[in-house]
Amino acid sequence: MTTGFRSIPPVNELLADKRVEQLVEVHSRDAVVDLIREQLDDVRAAISNGDAAPGIDDIIAQIARKCEERWRPWPSRVINGTGVILHTNLGRAPLSDDAVRAMERAAISYGDLEYDLSTGKRGSRHEHVSRLVCEATGAEAAMVVNNNAAAVMLGLAALAAGREVIVSRGEAVEIGGGFRIPDVLKQSGAELVEVGTTNRTYARDYETAITERTGAILAVHASNFKVMGFTHAPTIAELVDVGRRKDVPVLHDLGSGCLLPTEPYGLAPEPMPQDAVRAGVDLGFFSGDKLLGGPQAGIIIGSLESVAVVARHPLARAMRIDKINMAALAATLLHYIRGEAETAVPIWKMISATDDAIKQMASDWAESAGGEATVMESRSAIGGGSLPGETLPTWVVSLPTHRALHGAEGVARALRESTPPVIARIEDDKVLVDPRTVLPDDEPALLEAMKRAVEIGGGE
Ligand SMILES: *Cc1c(COP(=O)(O)O)cnc(C)c1O
Repeated sequence: MTTGFRSIPPVNELLADKRVEQLVEVHSRDAVVDLIREQLDDVRAAISNGDAAPGIDDIIAQIARKCEERWRPWPSRVINGTGVILHTNLGRAPLSDDAVRAMERAAISYGDLEYDLSTGKRGSRHEHVSRLVCEATGAEAAMVVNNNAAAVMLGLAALAAGREVIVSRGEAVEIGGGFRIPDVLKQSGAELVEVGTTNRTYARDYETAITERTGAILAVHASNFKVMGFTHAPTIAELVDVGRRKDVPVLHDLGSGCLLPTEPYGLAPEPMPQDAVRAGVDLGFFSGDKLLGGPQAGIIIGSLESVAVVARHPLARAMRIDKINMAALAATLLHYIRGEAETAVPIWKMISATDDAIKQMASDWAESAGGEATVMESRSAIGGGSLPGETLPTWVVSLPTHRALHGAEGVARALRESTPPVIARIEDDKVLVDPRTVLPDDEPALLEAMKRAVEIGGGE
């Protein structure tokens, strides 16, 4: 055992090695020395456990690998072959060219973010984007914060802290990632009053629950699950009617922020901000990076009076959106205002891609991948807490897996280990690549990766 320990090279010896010198040049001496110490600790621990002592080449290779892994540019670009359009783990919505240029502009230079160019005085960072939100949704007033979770929390804190908020039992739900309506309500300082039942709640349930302590009625869109069968929920207009008669503000968490109708694509209807405005909600909340197809953001729409109360709340500053996301949001909203969202916003291009176009791509790609790659019918998902269970018909490339070590898992791993990594979907032990979510620029790299995967999965 002691011989194993004695063969461990000292830090100085490693630092003198040409390969390590190169790492020091790129990453700095202190950082690399720390990493060397860490690696040598691991080696000592491994030897204590009875492992053989690694040679100096192995140790240096490990150190180089860790440098590469730890200090690589992050996040890496990956190719989304899963067919899940809003893949939360892959960063939800890819942005339009205009949005990317706007972000770059905002990042690289000074800008008139809070500066009024006509007067030369301080301006408001909210004014410009708020006006665009109003144009795109028809709202009277708007405000943008960090994300929709913040928007809901802020709206509740501003309008209902210290008071009761009435929520349907069917809507006191968990949206995911620890966002639970009852917990958010509690954190906002409001008190939850549940009405109705899990499957059926009526407008009169809300009405009878109103007391002098009521601060708001809150409707929450079931964005990641479906209740089927014997169900009832009042329309937002009915809730607004109750609220108006009883002088109680009605708040609506719409979730996705879908500004285009989904039915033309064969999808279920998703609540639209325009409809919430028409129904007359006091405040509506939605995400920037779900079906809006923009950056992470939380958008608050509503009446002048209610939005002004929200904007004055001290939490508003704590939930402020940064200038780069604001720039991307402004550019994304412009696509809707110009009526070009379907052709300019990447996620709407994916949703509206025709059956023929996808089938053509899948068969071209299967041919290019060669060997036993085939084309088959499948379904693409919307994902990302929007349109639960809703899918679009699609065509996918199915890659052979029978010769791969570890079958489908082995082929999927080989795809993930390509540069850039390709994320595929495994279904019934098949590895599927859906052209719908593959961005045009990704095609050449994807074809290379699929060729290699076919060799692994079905080659001789
Ligand atoms: C997604 C979602 C949220 C959270 O939105 P983020 O922008 O992810 O913070 C809140 N409410 C509903 C109904 C949602 O679908």
